[in-house]
Formats: sequence, C-alpha cells, structure tokens
Amino acid sequence: MQLDDLLTQVDNHRDELLTLVKDLIRFPTESPPARNTEEAQSFIAEKLREIGFSIDQWDVFPHDPNVVGTLKGEQPDVYQSLIINGHIDVAEVENDVGWTQNPFEPVVKDGRIYGRGTADMKGGLAGALFALQLLKDNGIVLPGDVIFQSVIGEEVGEAGTLECCEKGYKADGAIVVDTSDLAIQGQGGVITGWVTIKSPTTYHDALRRNMIHAGGGLYGASAIEKMVKLIEGLKELEQHWAVTKSYQGFPAGMSTINPAVIEGGRHAAFVADECRLWITVHFYPDENHMEIAKEVEDHLLKVSEADPWLRHHPPIFKWGGKSMIEDKGEIFPSLNINQEGKLVQQLTRAHSNILATKPQVGMSQTVTDGGWLGEAGIPTIIYGPGDLRNAHSTNESVEVSQLVDFTKVMLTFIYQWSHTKKEEL
Ligand SMILES: [Zn+2]
Repeated sequence: MQLDDLLTQVDNHRDELLTLVKDLIRFPTESPPARNTEEAQSFIAEKLREIGFSIDQWDVFPHDPNVVGTLKGEQPDVYQSLIINGHIDVAEVENDVGWTQNPFEPVVKDGRIYGRGTADMKGGLAGALFALQLLKDNGIVLPGDVIFQSVIGEEVGEAGTLECCEKGYKADGAIVVDTSDLAIQGQGGVITGWVTIKSPTTYHDALRRNMIHAGGGLYGASAIEKMVKLIEGLKELEQHWAVTKSYQGFPAGMSTINPAVIEGGRHAAFVADECRLWITVHFYPDENHMEIAKEVEDHLLKVSEADPWLRHHPPIFKWGGKSMIEDKGEIFPSLNINQEGKLVQQLTRAHSNILATKPQVGMSQTVTDGGWLGEAGIPTIIYGPGDLRNAHSTNESVEVSQLVDFTKVMLTFIYQWSHTKKEEL
C-alpha cells in the first residue's frame, strides 16, 4: 500500500472523520467547571485500543483522567518515536446566546463544522486519531513507537501534560495538535504569581494618624498603600522589558505583567494588614519561567529596599500552581522551536506534499501545553487545524477541508517520521 493510496482514503472516508469530530464535540467537556471528561476520555481510550494502543489512564483530578496510549513499533530501538498531544477539555460556554445551534450539537454548514471545541481542539484530536485509524485499517505496522496523549485541564492551566512528562513519557519528537491554522509554531510562556504584603501587627483605624503624621511615633503601614508602590514597580519593570526585550515572530512589548486581581484589608475599622496581588507574566520563548519569576522578585525586593517599612516587611511570593481552579495558579512554559531540526523539516515536507505550499513557521500568539513537553527535553512543535479567532468564540467552527488536509498531513508525517531511523536525527 502506497502513501498516495492511503491519502485518497482520507477523502473516501471523510464522513467517518466528521462523525468522529462530532462524537467528540457531543461530550460537554467544558472547563471550567471541569471534572467532566471521564466519558470523553473513555471514548478516546476505546478508539486507541481498537487501533492497537495499550492504555495508561489515571485521574489527574476526580472525574478528569488523562489517557495515554502507546502503540509499540516493530523496531522501537531503531526508528523514531512520536508523541501526539492534545487536550480534551474545551473553553467554557458562558452563555449560548448568539450560538445558532447548541454548542454541543455539532452541525456541518457551508463547508465548516460548528460546535464548541471544533477549533480548540477536538478537530485536531480527531484528525490525528483518524490518521492512526487509517494506518491500522490498511494493515500498516509502524517501525517506531507512537504515544497518544489525551490530557485534561489545559483551558484552566491544569497539569495534565505535566503529569504525562513526570510519568516519564518521552519520544524523539512531539506534536501538540492544538489550534495553529496549520502553521508550525513555538510559543512564549505564562506564569502567574501571588505577591503578598503582610504586617505583623493589626492596627485599629484610629491609629492611622500616629502611623502617617509627624510625631505620631507608630512604625506601621497600610498593606494596601504599600502594594500601590509595588504595582508602580511592576509597571516600570514591564516598560523596561518592553524596551529591552524582543523575540522574532512577536510584536514588541509582548512581555507584559498584568496586575490582574487585588485582595486586601479586613474591615473599614482597621488599617489594612494584608494585601495580595495576583499577577500574570508573559515572557518570550528564550526565557524560562523560573528565571522570569526571579527577575520580578528581585525587582520588587529592590523597590522594597527603598521603602522604610517594606524594607523590614518585604513581600512574599508564591509562583505558579497546578490549576487555576484548585490553587489559583498556572504555568505555561515557553517553547522554542529548532527550525533546522528533523521535526520541523519533516513536518514541513509532509505539509508541502499535501498543500502544495510551505507551512508558516513562527510563534503562537497564545499558549498551549507544548511548553511542558519542550521543558522535558522533547523536540516539540504546535501544529493543528482551526484558527485562534475561532478558539473560545461564539459559533466556534473549523473548515472541513482544512480538517481533511490536517488529517492527510498527519498521516504522511506519522508514516514518514516513524520510518526514519533514530541516528538520522
Ligand atoms: Zn487549546
């Protein structure tokens, strides 16, 4: 069986591909609220089993299991292995006003398939699964291993993919089939953090005069007022970054520090003894989230040094987290791509074969789980159907012809990657 014959089969079996996308859309795996992916994940696990994968399934959170399938190659020591990664959760449908149909009852209309998750990213999951299905149906046994990861929680910064990496899943290359409009992409990163200012003493409101006026004699401060100083400091750092940092593929000033949420004070009868600021920091692909966190800390500690009260009551930092829902924190490591590497080269070739044009290679304007795989030392890229305008949007949709093209590219790429010897890397 030639690859060309296999590719015609994608066209011949187009309706089956669409049925698979629709089946996935019908599982309402919204996140938040999350904890609702069990059925969808069992469905994927069953599909993978039919193709010959062995399944590793575990709860990351109750009712939110990860599914990792492994399809053993015939000569896994000799031929390249591949990880295909995607998330099963979809963005919340806050209200379905404006949707022309139920977001979880997909319809095909005017060459597009509509429904929550079509673009982000059940279309990608379905296309990759379907490519593997066709290989199996045509009796093709791959020489290298294929690992299929269907993870939870990506929409709320949960550690689905991180747990796959922590479990030790590795490969010679990884593709995150998330929304990229068939461009090959890396990404910048995001880390959230809490900055807390805390006074060791709680003062009654009546003592404010003593605290702030000449001769008052009381060494104390309002945590809220001191936080204003740190927010100003963050703005200065953000501006400094905007001027001094850049990365090809991004507009200037992408490295932002957003003071997103502020909480503080206990009651109008007291001077605020605690203030907490929740910040979101974006950084470039050549930067690491731990270094960025340290840059912010160092700067705020310098700002604090220049203040007579903060100097002795410096802010406390808590960075990242494994879930925006559970611990109000998240990390998306950045992802650098190696344009000369085998992964980009082979995928470019597969894409060009199908679309008769070279793919764009660049940077995603959003974040995906790709950063975790990259951080685990696996050459990784983002490549999937659907565009970001559609991700998370009302009447989310993906073009059917793009979905078909994606499936063909994946079929070609998986086949060729798996038939490439490791030492050729
Ligand atoms: Zn996504």
